[in-house]
Amino acid sequence: MPVNKKISVSVLCAFLTMGAVLFVLNFITPMQMPDELPYSEFKTLLAAGNVEEVTVTRQSLLGKLKPGERSKEPKLFTTVRVEDPDLVKELNARNVKFTGMIESTFLRDIMWWVIPALLFGGIWFFVIRRLGQGLGQGQKGFMTVGKSKAKIYAEKDTKVTFADVAGVEEAKEELREVIEFLKTPERFTRLGAKIPKGILLVGPPGTGKTLLARAVAGEAGVTFFSISGSEFVEMFVGVGASRVRDLFEQAKVKAPCIIFIDELDALGKARGAGPMAHEEREQTLNQLLVEMDGFDPRIAVILMAATNRPEILDPALLRPGRFDRQVLVDRPDKIGRLAILRVHAKRVTLGPDADIEVIAAMTPGFSGADLANIINEATLLTVRRNKEQVGLSELQEAVERVVAGLEKKNRVLNKMEKERVAHHEVGHALVALSFPGADPIQKISIIPRGIAALGYTLQLPTEDRFLMAKTELENKIAVLLGGRSAEELIFGEASTGAQNDLVRATDIAKSMVKSYGMSEKLGTVTLDRERQPLIMQIQASQEKGDYSEETAREIDCEVRRIIDEQYDRVRWLLAEKKRALIEGAQVLLEREVISGSELRAIMDNH
Ligand code: ADP
Ligand code: ZN
Repeated sequence: MPVNKKISVSVLCAFLTMGAVLFVLNFITPMQMPDELPYSEFKTLLAAGNVEEVTVTRQSLLGKLKPGERSKEPKLFTTVRVEDPDLVKELNARNVKFTGMIESTFLRDIMWWVIPALLFGGIWFFVIRRLGQGLGQGQKGFMTVGKSKAKIYAEKDTKVTFADVAGVEEAKEELREVIEFLKTPERFTRLGAKIPKGILLVGPPGTGKTLLARAVAGEAGVTFFSISGSEFVEMFVGVGASRVRDLFEQAKVKAPCIIFIDELDALGKARGAGPMAHEEREQTLNQLLVEMDGFDPRIAVILMAATNRPEILDPALLRPGRFDRQVLVDRPDKIGRLAILRVHAKRVTLGPDADIEVIAAMTPGFSGADLANIINEATLLTVRRNKEQVGLSELQEAVERVVAGLEKKNRVLNKMEKERVAHHEVGHALVALSFPGADPIQKISIIPRGIAALGYTLQLPTEDRFLMAKTELENKIAVLLGGRSAEELIFGEASTGAQNDLVRATDIAKSMVKSYGMSEKLGTVTLDRERQPLIMQIQASQEKGDYSEETAREIDCEVRRIIDEQYDRVRWLLAEKKRALIEGAQVLLEREVISGSELRAIMDNH
């Protein structure tokens, strides 16, 4: 940065000069400090002939007293100058040597003006340098742009291939064409084929969107530029936009290449939406749109972006010629999970009993990142246990850890709380065991895990579910209410521990009424439109939803009716199984963990 170097040299010179000035000043100032005398005393001394010499300046007199009664040495003094027209006459009369002096204000000026100016200059210089890094006009290694928040990462060879991404076959299929284009762009442009400029990867967090984008770059052997949308938002106004410009400049030079924007929603929220229009975000977004429109389709630069909330994106981003191709990257199904587990298990040594198919069956709803985490946790456990190979038990425990957070054995509940939690959890489990269709209970535990759950009932569906019948949903609500109902039955009152259960039960009931048309009273209609751009949701909420207040009241009534019905049902059921409840809770209190089949045995005994 030549400009900055020049500045820093001149700053250095200034500091040196200042140092020199201070040094000299130190010598000029007499070592002996002059006495301050009142003017009247000076006049008396003068009249007595004790003054040897005087220097007159505009504001003061500086003089030397003759050695005598006051001291043996000639003594220095100063006094404030008073308007005294006879002074010169008197000085002459007493034969005092005197000179006039025009006081130099040079040094004082330096103190007053130059030092603050230098300070300000210094601060300004550092700010500019910071900004300069933020703007980073591309000199000096794009990849080391350093301390600024929005980092652009450029990877020449990502070394990631499609073999590393599992369980997202459809997405891979859709991206094959892009790879072909990046490999041999001429072939496509010669024929005038239209290649999508922007591809939006849509899916929940941790499903491998970033991984997929890197794999596309790896497969095509092109540079991968990546930047995160959320980092733009915290920057100075104007910096984000210039960053976007930079990014495209660089990409054009390195073409063919891929630009990947993670968390596009942070940057591409509908403009003018949200509590405050965010100027910086809008500028950055506008710049992105300008760049997307402006670049030559023949240049092989493919823009990819990831989001888990496509519904809040500014519609302008999704127009033809922008992110007009959307690829869904969803949570994997059982086969997909198995494939992902295989990919990650390659890096570790599995024992003969470590059947990852069991793990794949246990983990519906898990994302690729969760599964990678399971393998990692299992490996850590194996090391901790001084084992050579990862076994099934480690894998299973890793699943639990990922499900429920880390085991916190050291967190103690008092005896009363423990009893409550035990009955609560057995309550859930008994209700679940009583319904033939409900998900089987794996285990019940009251070892506190994480922050939220004091105990938990691990209920895993055996298969992935896409459709659920009304009774199944009702059963789910019943199981959720089982904990609270058990507490009431045994202790006569509920506790705060059931709050999360209630929230979830209410959510299910609400969806039944509003989305699935499962309420007879309200009929088979859906009153819920969730996937709308935010701007429309805001308008909708100003109009109090797309149903009337009367309907809203009916919805509330219906939700309450569903919950109440299920609560009654659960109360009856648990009252009937009270002895199994007490015995199950007793076993649980003793052992802290109990399996589903053990509880079933207890239940069948009674
Ligand atoms: P996203 O960008 O969708 O949030 P990432 O791509 O960052 O998710 O995934 C995080 C990590 O999880 C990856 O680095 C990888 O280890 C693992 N992972 C996620 N999805 C998959 C997948 N489909 N196949 C293999 N590993 C995956
Ligand atoms: Zn509960």
